[in-house]
Amino acid sequence: MMRVDFPVMRSIKKISQSEIKMRIFLLFAGLATLPAFALNLTVLLDVEQKHSQRALVEMRKELAKVFKPTHLTVDVRLRQDAPANETYNDVVLVKLKGTCQMSNLAPLMDERGPFAFTHTVDGKILPFSEVACDHIARSVQQAMGGHSFDRERLLGRALARVLAHEIVHMVGQCADHSHAGVFRHALSGRQLVADKLELQPEDIARLP
Ligand SMILES: [Zn+2]
Repeated sequence: MMRVDFPVMRSIKKISQSEIKMRIFLLFAGLATLPAFALNLTVLLDVEQKHSQRALVEMRKELAKVFKPTHLTVDVRLRQDAPANETYNDVVLVKLKGTCQMSNLAPLMDERGPFAFTHTVDGKILPFSEVACDHIARSVQQAMGGHSFDRERLLGRALARVLAHEIVHMVGQCADHSHAGVFRHALSGRQLVADKLELQPEDIARLP
């Protein structure tokens, strides 16, 4: 049993005006909302600040590992690399906020915030999330303690697990959580970097 070092990853939040603007962008960009039978999911990453290339490579690997027991394949692409006229069947937009790298970490003013959240409107879960990179990076740093692991790789693993959690919310259209694994309501820094953190059978059942 691992201690929960970090606060609840509460993913559901009511939509605000600026978020509605993002939703309108999605509609105008021709990005469809998720049908119930989605199999191949494109994750468009909107990277706000600097990011570690190595962390993103590891994130893709870990996402593939987490979703391996499911019928869902996850293709992660940077939004700036996606051609403007490209259309997708099933897509979610994920904003990586803050700096997604382990070097030059700034101290966090408040470590109680969520690692990520997914937007909702009128109780419906929308296909976009925001991920707090700085917060995750600080949690990875603390979980490593004084050990000299491959930090960017562990950050990528942690990002993948936070993202996987939000993907279950978005694709599974569910607001409740599981009791264990990657879709539990709260994840610690140590769980984010542990050798293994998987979907539970009930999570797999939530997915197409
Ligand atoms: Zn959640």
